[in-house]
Amino acid sequence: MPDEKKRRKIGFWIFLAVIVLLNAALILAMQTQRFADFYCGEIAPRIANAVGGVMGLIPTAVCEISVAALVCFGAVFIILLILLIFLHKRAGYRRFVGGCFKFTALIAVISISSELCYDAAMMKSTPVGQQQTHDFDDLTALFNLTMTQINTLSAEADRDENHHLIRRTGDEVRRTIDASRKKLAADYPRFQYTKPPVPKTSVFSAVVTKFGDSAYFTKPWHETVFTIKAQRLGTYPSIFSHEYSHYTGYYREDEANFFAHLLTTQSDDPNVQYAGWMDIIGKLWDAIELDYFGHPPTDEDYEDPAFDAYCNSVVPYDDFLLYVGDLSGNYAKYHEEHGEENVVDEYKKEAELPEAAAKLIQKQGQKHFENLHAHLGEHYYDGVVQLLLDYYADQLEPYRTENLSNEKE
Ligand SMILES: [Zn+2]
Repeated sequence: MPDEKKRRKIGFWIFLAVIVLLNAALILAMQTQRFADFYCGEIAPRIANAVGGVMGLIPTAVCEISVAALVCFGAVFIILLILLIFLHKRAGYRRFVGGCFKFTALIAVISISSELCYDAAMMKSTPVGQQQTHDFDDLTALFNLTMTQINTLSAEADRDENHHLIRRTGDEVRRTIDASRKKLAADYPRFQYTKPPVPKTSVFSAVVTKFGDSAYFTKPWHETVFTIKAQRLGTYPSIFSHEYSHYTGYYREDEANFFAHLLTTQSDDPNVQYAGWMDIIGKLWDAIELDYFGHPPTDEDYEDPAFDAYCNSVVPYDDFLLYVGDLSGNYAKYHEEHGEENVVDEYKKEAELPEAAAKLIQKQGQKHFENLHAHLGEHYYDGVVQLLLDYYADQLEPYRTENLSNEKE
């Protein structure tokens, strides 16, 4: 009996060592671009399809609940270890603590190695598109093109009797994006293997929102989770497509934003197309301001009359986008101005967090995104502007400000 126990004990550590070695080999191989490309292009999308498909069968966010349980378990584990000082003579108790330790070690190894694998693949695989140089006028033309699309789609989109955009459900978005990914698969082959994930609502939605995130997927398990707030936004289909792009092996943030734009704007649903254009407008405007002033603008910069004239020269914002609430999904202000009652929002509100906890989570989130920015550099979220400038380069001519004003005359 003791022999068999010993064998089982050794067996577990050999199993763990094999997992560590396999992952180490995988991460090492990922240091070459060829293997990282092979991994992202051939292995990752298939894993996503298989594992993500199974995870999609379970209706709730299992990983999120498991992580919370593990955090609680971690606290309990420390107490268990302290108790070991007094109870170490009891074989049953020792076995129980040993089992807990093995379980924690296994989960830690799987989580850490999948995170390292993901990072290695992201940093080493070939980026999408070869960067060209663009000047400020190109940026302005892209802004004008985007505003023109937004203004057109704002009028074409399906609305209910209260002027609210008719939001697409998770299943509707999933179906629409699946049709888009089939179209795009010819040019971007990673899309040929992987169906979009089944979207789930975050159990800790308020926490994720405070952290500064709207959605994410848990790496080894490919479970894709959205906050309540994200699902209310007019850009939800775009957020969905961003996560889908990661899920299918396009790991960089600029690329995920770029494909979020393509998957939505090349769909057949005007509300989904609208989401794809709305999602880039803020990033475009930030890029314009940064380029115009050469630094993030200060209050004084905004007083500059030349900048004011520039703002008046571009295609104006559509009322529905900002003022009415298509972007935020909150139409209260619009109805207030019209002396109407705002209809009840069909999405439940996110919970209010205690102030101290909210501050702590927000601070951690800011740190996380600062680190991510430093780590990703030009492949951070705002890098999408460069990718879009490349993509639309030959469609910008009619949208140059001088050509637009010629049209007006
Ligand atoms: Zn992302």
